[in-house]
Amino acid sequence: MYSQLYFDYNATTPCLKEVVDSMLPYFNQDFGNPSSSHHPYGWLAKSAVEDATLAIAQNLGISPSSLVFTSGATESINMVLKGVARKMQSKGNHIITTKSEHKAVLDTCAFLEENGFEVTYLDVDSKGLISVEMLSEMLRPETILVSILYANNETGTVQPLDEISRLTHKNGSLLFSDTTQALGKVDLSKVFQLVDFACFSAHKVYGPKGIGLVFIKDNEDGNGLPSFIQGGGQQKKQRGGTINTPLIVGFSKAIALAIENINIETQRLKTLRNKLETGLLQIELAISNSTTPQRLPNTVHISFPYVDGANLLTALSRQIAVSNGSACNSASVEPSHVLTAMGIERSLAYASLRLSLGKYSTENDIEKAIAIITNEVVKQRDNNILWDRREKEPTP
Ligand code: PLP
Repeated sequence: MYSQLYFDYNATTPCLKEVVDSMLPYFNQDFGNPSSSHHPYGWLAKSAVEDATLAIAQNLGISPSSLVFTSGATESINMVLKGVARKMQSKGNHIITTKSEHKAVLDTCAFLEENGFEVTYLDVDSKGLISVEMLSEMLRPETILVSILYANNETGTVQPLDEISRLTHKNGSLLFSDTTQALGKVDLSKVFQLVDFACFSAHKVYGPKGIGLVFIKDNEDGNGLPSFIQGGGQQKKQRGGTINTPLIVGFSKAIALAIENINIETQRLKTLRNKLETGLLQIELAISNSTTPQRLPNTVHISFPYVDGANLLTALSRQIAVSNGSACNSASVEPSHVLTAMGIERSLAYASLRLSLGKYSTENDIEKAIAIITNEVVKQRDNNILWDRREKEPTP
């Protein structure tokens, strides 16, 4: 373990010991292929997958037939967007999404645009919320899908799915919501009633990396989405490939643990988040980018004017693991597309930090993080000539 403080739980979480223990027998002892129907090795693995699937369904309050396992949320998103496009192309070729989606959605939409689909990207306001009036105006008879990120991975902003769902379905379109960041942090029971598709990833909820889920509401007969990966006919032919018994068992355990403690943990995280946010906002001119009443309980996102964001991150990286956006987008040298979509100016977007809390975050960590970040911001500004002149010039 590093000695650093970990404040990047939205990027990934450690796999819990109980989760690792639940998976271990299925790597070497009960290692059979769930599709081997002629011997007990296969039967055992098949029953482990069935039990795990049933437990996930029960914990989430959905039908087991609505679940398809994938390699993670990115694959799930590809499966939904490309699957709906393929299935519904006789109805239309128009998709609506937002400018502040995760890159997994934006890049898949760009791919669909290259392949004859038309995508409308809704603006978000300065809080990161879409306008439902704008959505209503953009819906057309040929709109086949609306794809709206439920809880933003950078800012934690939660979108108003009730109204989005009502408008989308009134138009006869399907609704997908990327719910990856919400699992284990927000009660999703209502969300499953509002959407046609959702997606999840185990590594965001203290499970293993490399396993995810698609929720397909109407999938009794396996026709809710067309086959995404061909070969072998597994998972009602919707996603071919040997079923990953240990990871599915681990994912199921992780979800059970997350749901079991959700109310207590959400409250604990909110208290810590508020303390962290209040502490960081004491820094002169600091601005919070996470201000909606509905937001993730664990995410703080703050900009520090007159600070060089790259220098700040490098300086902090020795003591505290934070990020300035999505880990999936860290190859980009551009400022966060989520912040620029919110109208935040590029240099300020660079000078921003996302701190995401989790199971092992403590009050002591929060106090240390506030002290470390305050100290670094002050140091960065001491080296910035514009900081001294700030009285005479407008905030950058
Ligand atoms: N969607 C959101 C909102 C995310 O935060 C992430 C991960 O950062 C993904 C999708 C992609 O998840 P995965 O790593 O499972 O592909």
